[in-house]
Amino acid sequence: MRMAMIPEATVDQILKTVNIADYIGQVVQLHKAGQNLFGLCPFHEEKTPSFSVSESKQIFHCFSCGRGGNVYKFVMDLENVSFPEAVAKVAAFANIPLDVQVTQTVQDAPEVTQQKTILNDVKDLYHHILVNTKTGEAALAYLTERGLSQETIATFELGYAPADNKLVKAFLDNRKIDYQVQRETGLFVENQDGELFDRFVDRIMFPLKNEVGAVVGFSGRVLQKADQQAKYLNSPETTVFNKRDLLFNLDLAKSQFKLADGALLFEGFMDVISAYQAGIKNGIASMGTSLTNEQLQLLAKRTHQLTVCYDGDAPGLAAANRAVDILGEQNRLASGVVVLPNGQDPDEFIKASGAEAFKAQVQKRLTPTAFKLFFLKQGQDLTNDEAKLTYIKASLATVAKLRQPVERAVYLQQIAKDTGINEQTLAQQLPRPQAVVQTSVHMATPQVKFDRYQRAQRELLAFVLHDELVQARLVNNNFVFPDARYQDLFNAWLQYLAANHQPDIATFSDTLEPDQANLLADVSMQNLAPMSDEVIDDLLALLGTVPLRQQLQSLKTQLAQAQQLNDQEAMRSLSQQYFGLLRQLKA
Ligand SMILES: [Zn+2]
Repeated sequence: MRMAMIPEATVDQILKTVNIADYIGQVVQLHKAGQNLFGLCPFHEEKTPSFSVSESKQIFHCFSCGRGGNVYKFVMDLENVSFPEAVAKVAAFANIPLDVQVTQTVQDAPEVTQQKTILNDVKDLYHHILVNTKTGEAALAYLTERGLSQETIATFELGYAPADNKLVKAFLDNRKIDYQVQRETGLFVENQDGELFDRFVDRIMFPLKNEVGAVVGFSGRVLQKADQQAKYLNSPETTVFNKRDLLFNLDLAKSQFKLADGALLFEGFMDVISAYQAGIKNGIASMGTSLTNEQLQLLAKRTHQLTVCYDGDAPGLAAANRAVDILGEQNRLASGVVVLPNGQDPDEFIKASGAEAFKAQVQKRLTPTAFKLFFLKQGQDLTNDEAKLTYIKASLATVAKLRQPVERAVYLQQIAKDTGINEQTLAQQLPRPQAVVQTSVHMATPQVKFDRYQRAQRELLAFVLHDELVQARLVNNNFVFPDARYQDLFNAWLQYLAANHQPDIATFSDTLEPDQANLLADVSMQNLAPMSDEVIDDLLALLGTVPLRQQLQSLKTQLAQAQQLNDQEAMRSLSQQYFGLLRQLKA
């Protein structure tokens, strides 16, 4: 696929129109501190912010992982997309029309592409059997009975795997697909002789798609449930399918998150699909397992809010309780829980009461703590003293984890209401708050320590980027940064200047390799006092001694070797040079 070219002028214009803080603000909660904004780095787990954004320079930088650059670099790093795709995303954010169509340019390895093509073809085969053939009639009738429209079945490309366990095998053989490649698809089980049989037999097929809508596997639901047969059967792990980082319907739901106030997490595929049909399009489901970190990371790139909407029955509530615990361990997604009345599941509720009533339930979602208290009360008779004491102990332990006194007060009030014990008494019983990890009030302190020469080079380079006079002075003196990384960046800057009339850091960043863009952000994020000529003089003087010091160091090593060999002549000559240099340095 050829990459669409976006004119450079457009790229620069978008960069000048969009405020990087607004864009990143969608993903990271930013707080103002001094000149910059800061927050928790979205590229890794952290409790204390190391991530900062400069509005004046239009760049971001994390001193913990070293990532940095302009808004395009942010999108490329975060979403793992190419430069044109990043530009397209930022343009869309700013409502700037692009005349060119930017295509997906992330290149899969050839084996991966082949696997995805096969899975896509098999998806089409299953879908065709479901909607167009006599073999698929019973399955189609089942789905129609469950209330799915033709359009919905087409949108999710549902299918039917017939009872014939040689069907897909024959289909792929017919296409001359190599045996080993077929094995890799996860579509087969094999006997002792290595003979392949279709894994999915007499099942309704749900294609599992990744974030960009490519089929990576299947989940098959039994049509007629026989004993000891799992209701859902998933593809095994393959080169393209890992159930830990797949969320059902993320490909369609992701564009709805902003509009719909975040994502809705359902228990099953059918909930997601019937909600979608009713106009609730922001639903996703994990793969029949509890939420994984990978899934949460995937989601946190897309939204701030996740609302758990599991079945209202006892197993559903218990699963929601586990989900709340998992969500409580991370700090990127705000969460809430919808509890549907009368133990209904979302599918039943939407069918009985409609989409608007369902949306109203989502609006009434409980905070994680409110849900915990609700869950602890389930099935308990609080007029019984023992049950009451158990409830108080467990609920106070939950409340003790809250950091804000106001939050604690709200829930103590709730517990008081539940139990008839007054709030003061409950407050006395409240376990002491655990040592609170310092939260997003101050930036973390950088771990990396630079020696004075490194520091001098970084400061000098930052000055160069701000001040043409400093830059001119370095050029006129033929100054060379002792560390090649800084010198390379300096050279790149001079080159960039030669071609641009209105230089700025963010557009400069676009011309750099990723490592250099990181270094640029790092260097230019330094909080430096206004520069004076004396400061520059001192920095130049200090750095001017670096080559001498390096020579001294090398002489010292050679001297030690000569001593070991007892090479008198070499020792004499080396120490002469050594002391000569030392005198020069002190002059
Ligand atoms: Zn970071």
